[in-house]
Amino acid sequence: MENAPVIDSHVPLAAPNARLADSNARLIDSFGRLHDNLRVSVTDRCNVRCFYCMPETDVRFVERREILDFEEIERFVRIAVTLGVRKVRITGGEPLVRRDLPVLVRRLAALPGVEDIALTTNGVLLPKLAQPLYEAGLRRINVHLDTLDRERFLRITRRDEISKVLAGLELCKQLGYSKIKLNAVAVKNLVEPDIVPLARFGREHGFEVRYIEFMPLDAQNLWDRKKVLLADDIIRMLSREIAPLVPVPDPDPRAPASEYRFADGVGRVGFIASVSRPFCLNCNRLRLTADGKLRYCLFAIEEDDVKTLLRSGASDDDVAALIRRNVAGKWRGHEINTARFVAPPRPMYAIGG
Ligand code: SF4
Repeated sequence: MENAPVIDSHVPLAAPNARLADSNARLIDSFGRLHDNLRVSVTDRCNVRCFYCMPETDVRFVERREILDFEEIERFVRIAVTLGVRKVRITGGEPLVRRDLPVLVRRLAALPGVEDIALTTNGVLLPKLAQPLYEAGLRRINVHLDTLDRERFLRITRRDEISKVLAGLELCKQLGYSKIKLNAVAVKNLVEPDIVPLARFGREHGFEVRYIEFMPLDAQNLWDRKKVLLADDIIRMLSREIAPLVPVPDPDPRAPASEYRFADGVGRVGFIASVSRPFCLNCNRLRLTADGKLRYCLFAIEEDDVKTLLRSGASDDDVAALIRRNVAGKWRGHEINTARFVAPPRPMYAIGG
């Protein structure tokens, strides 16, 4: 048993393959939350340097050999699917800097049981990759864009790349991506001038803007509650400047964004209000980091080592047991609004959105 997997003895290993055959297997935690959404980070590297995510210089990335390869990712997703995972979102760092990413998208899209694949990107490489990703089966894409202003884009990302992002968005539209969303991080006293222009841009092009409250996940501990532009503030701004916003009943209450439509019938926006309106009690998400750690929460302090299992000859059952153990130990939710809050040991770029 020298290749025996490194897991705690109190988790009884089911008879080989008994569980894998059980297509009704589901990942339900101690709060009754069903987990069917897996975020897969394929790299911690990025081609921009958003100030609220990573330092401008001297960023320490994981060594390449520590990053899961496509076979390992595909195997993990295949096992997770047998436990009820149905949705996969590919994230980073910046996923498009991972070589041959369309190959992975095609492999995951072909996995029986995977009903939905989406990707979150900063869009800089979309002019080059939007077509091969589309041909690989990708249809849903979130593009991170906080501003349409070239100067502010440069100030936020420390890269002068906005024209590529806009060209990439236009190409995604032409190719026929079914759902194109813009993820805009709302940092107070910085992006207020962008809130309305972004919404107008979304209305004009059929993109759904998601305003994301600034979260304490940056590598330099810049976060401060005073720097969070709250969802309610943005709703007031948009209702005043464009048209009243009408809440849209959640098609899936477990989705992180609360959605609104403009009363004039043109366009929708969403709010991911982790700070002012935490949605943890509806959370259905798990995260696999690029270096093979399983996290039950963006803010988790602890994580489980999947890579060692995958690389030590463990069986699919053992990997499944680890996933179950992870979900079984999931906490109630982040504690940003309590004195107990401790920032996770990993910054956002090393977790994935
Ligand atoms: S903070 Fe954690 S528990 Fe809450 S919704 Fe996000 S991932 Fe889920």
